[in-house]
Amino acid sequence: MSLQYNLENYYKPETMKQAVDLLLKFGKTAKVIAGGTDILPKRQCGAQFDTITHLIDISNLGLNYIKESKGNLCIGASTNINSLVTASAFHSNPYIGLIEAAEAHSTNTIRNQATVGGNLCNASPCADLALPLLALSACVVVAGPKGNHTIQLDTFFKGPNCTALLPGEILLEIIIPNHQETTGASFIKLRHHQTEVDMAVVNVATQLLLDGNNCLRAMIALGSVGPTSFLAKKAAGILSRQTLNKKLIEQAAMLAADESAPIDDNRATAGYRKEMAAVLVKNSLEKSWERSRK
Ligand SMILES: Cc1cc2nc3c(=O)[nH]c(=O)nc-3n(C[C@H](O)[C@H](O)[C@H](O)COP(=O)(O)OP(=O)(O)OC[C@H]3O[C@@H](n4cnc5c(N)ncnc54)[C@H](O)[C@@H]3O)c2cc1C
Repeated sequence: MSLQYNLENYYKPETMKQAVDLLLKFGKTAKVIAGGTDILPKRQCGAQFDTITHLIDISNLGLNYIKESKGNLCIGASTNINSLVTASAFHSNPYIGLIEAAEAHSTNTIRNQATVGGNLCNASPCADLALPLLALSACVVVAGPKGNHTIQLDTFFKGPNCTALLPGEILLEIIIPNHQETTGASFIKLRHHQTEVDMAVVNVATQLLLDGNNCLRAMIALGSVGPTSFLAKKAAGILSRQTLNKKLIEQAAMLAADESAPIDDNRATAGYRKEMAAVLVKNSLEKSWERSRK
């Protein structure tokens, strides 16, 4: 693959401070590169990166890990997507949506290269991993010139390819709080051709924390139907503290579709996306409900 960047330099810093300093020094002419599966093809398609003359490779910063800390599950930003699939930590009930999203992401080859942090920082409205992570109430730890701070994931996405990261900031880690075993989860992705490399037309992740059939907490995350991945909070709200039934789930699914704001593009019309959002939310909630009972 020809890079087609007018690169002056490709840096591979050994410390976070060096990486942050480089980003600050070169400002808008610099970009972080992780797996490169978004940033390199994008440039090939002639996208907005004409001004990028410095790439800062973060693969030497020790951000490739999955670990438990203080009851939370922590994923280093440079962890590749296939590592999620093989991590035993995610093979229990509440985290199954994350595995399903990782498996629905592209091909085996891309998944070995693409990182979890890159999927979030690219901030595509159809990013697959963003949805189960939103539904799991994840937050992200960011390093920058003023030190580290934490951002709740549902305030991280600001628009297509736009995040809450400030100049000089790098995503370090994703933190998933502990979830009870009676939480059911699922992720569903609708693709145009249903081939592995198709991005989503609509994608959905849900979580239901149940006590019997009483829903203690519901989370519904939607992608590809708005400028960012987002939580459908009104729809989830009508499920919380209610006894679940099929009718209520259908109402929540319709409400979630109402909360979406899709556009027409080469993959689908806005109208089709809205209709399918309701279908996918309903199916995903039913799956999460069923799983929570196991
Ligand atoms: C053939 C193909 C199929 C694909 N299919 C899918 C799919 O099915 N689902 C899907 O969601 N995506 C898909 N993608 C998109 C892409 O693979 C993912 O978004 C991937 O997770 C990006 O990770 P990366 O490490 O390659 O990011 P990079 O390309 O390295 O970076 C992406 C962006 O994030 C920034 N960035 C990366 N890491 C950090 C960090 N730690 N801190 C700050 N900024 C950072 C970069 O500066 C850049 O702007 C596909 C891509 C290709 C080429």
